[in-house]
Amino acid sequence: MSCLFCQIANKEKESDEVFEDDQFFVFKDINPKTRIHVLIIPKRHIESVNHMDEEDVELVGTLFLTAKRMAEQLGVADSGYRLEINVGRGGGQIIDHLHVHLMAD
Ligand code: 5GP
Ligand code: ZN
Repeated sequence: MSCLFCQIANKEKESDEVFEDDQFFVFKDINPKTRIHVLIIPKRHIESVNHMDEEDVELVGTLFLTAKRMAEQLGVADSGYRLEINVGRGGGQIIDHLHVHLMAD
C-alpha cells in the first residue's frame, strides 16, 4: 500500500500519535500551521469527500465526533478551533486519504 496516511495509520511510517481507536488515527501535522494542528483520519482508505459513499455516512459522522473529542483532549474545545477538509488539488488536498485538520492557536 503506497498511501502515506495508510502507512501512518498502520504504523509502518512514524508519526507523532495523539489518539487511536479501532476506526481512527490522530497525529500531529508535520508542518503545523497553528499552535495545535492535528490530522484525524479514518483507518479505512477513502480518497476524499468526493469518494464518499452511502456506506461511509456513519464513519464520517463518527469522524466529527472524534474531532470534538480531540478538541476536548487538547484543551481547545471551549476556546475554539477550526476544522478543515480539503478536497482535490484545487481545494488544497495534497494527500489523497480523507483527513480533517483540527487547528487552534
Ligand atoms: P492536505 O493539504 O492534503 O489537506 O493536508 C496534508 C497535510 O499532511 C499537510 O498539512 C502536511 O503538512 C501533512 N503531512 C504531509 N506529509 C506528512 C507526514 O509524513 N507526516 C505528518 N505527520 N504530516 C504530513
Ligand atoms: Zn490511505
